[in-house]
Amino acid sequence: MAPRDLLDMTGRVALVTGAGTGLGARFCMALAEHGADVVAVARRAEKVENVADAIRKAGGKAIAVSGDVTDTASIKAAFDAAEKAFGTVDAVVANAGIAEAGRAAEISDDAWRRTMATNLDGVFYTAREAAQRLLKAGKHGSIVNIASILGYGVGKGNASYATSKAAVIQLTQALALEWAFKGIRVNAIAPGYVVTDINRDYLTSGKGAEMTRDIPVGRFGREHELDGALLLLLSEAGAFMTGTTITVDGGQRIGLRGS
Ligand code: NAD
Repeated sequence: MAPRDLLDMTGRVALVTGAGTGLGARFCMALAEHGADVVAVARRAEKVENVADAIRKAGGKAIAVSGDVTDTASIKAAFDAAEKAFGTVDAVVANAGIAEAGRAAEISDDAWRRTMATNLDGVFYTAREAAQRLLKAGKHGSIVNIASILGYGVGKGNASYATSKAAVIQLTQALALEWAFKGIRVNAIAPGYVVTDINRDYLTSGKGAEMTRDIPVGRFGREHELDGALLLLLSEAGAFMTGTTITVDGGQRIGLRGS
């Protein structure tokens, strides 16, 4: 008997924000490889067009939509486009995020707002839009928010980022509790350091190499190493999981600094 593919996403409509680069682009590929119809959303349409093209060339189904997660009208338009192409979105990855370093005493009003607007408001607006449409359609779905291990611990210079990611973890629980009985699951992934555009310059510098000493497995993560957690939470394999955050960090959270 052939094993059942627990992580199969065939027939599902997946929407990924911040999909033009890095983890978001990888999430789109992983979802398409598992059979989902993919809606890749990002501010720069040309970037996501490349992602959608790559999926189509590999035999999958995908569209690229431009959208800014800080703007609710733009999110609505992205979900409208998704529905028109494939039907109700029932798998969501709220991945768009920014990281701006800065010592707390020097963070400007604008910089603080920018981080919260993208990393927290953007996740809430995306999840709320998805849930409203699923509730209206009477369908079940699954939402995954991308947090960070900095949602649990802090470092100097990341007050705004770490605070926004801690809020994403708490928001995930709040939404999960409200929507569980309606068949909408909400979970999060807290990645450790994975080399992408957001951090490549820093992580590949000398200082970056030093940072691997704090990671028990001895290296940074690779983009595809979040695929398993993502597919678990979005597919039927995670049917009894909601309100949880999965840490994928090479053991960084459990390691004592310098040990
Ligand atoms: P990235 O910079 O490559 O990707 C972030 C994407 O979000 C970009 O494509 C960017 O254009 C998009 N984006 C930013 N603001 C947006 C907005 N207002 N509307 C729509 N899209 C917007 O970096 P990444 O590493 O792929 O990050 C993806 C997510 O993973 C982020 O939420 C980040 O905080 C989180 N994360 C990354 C790491 C890591 O080590 N790479 C670790 C923990 C968490």
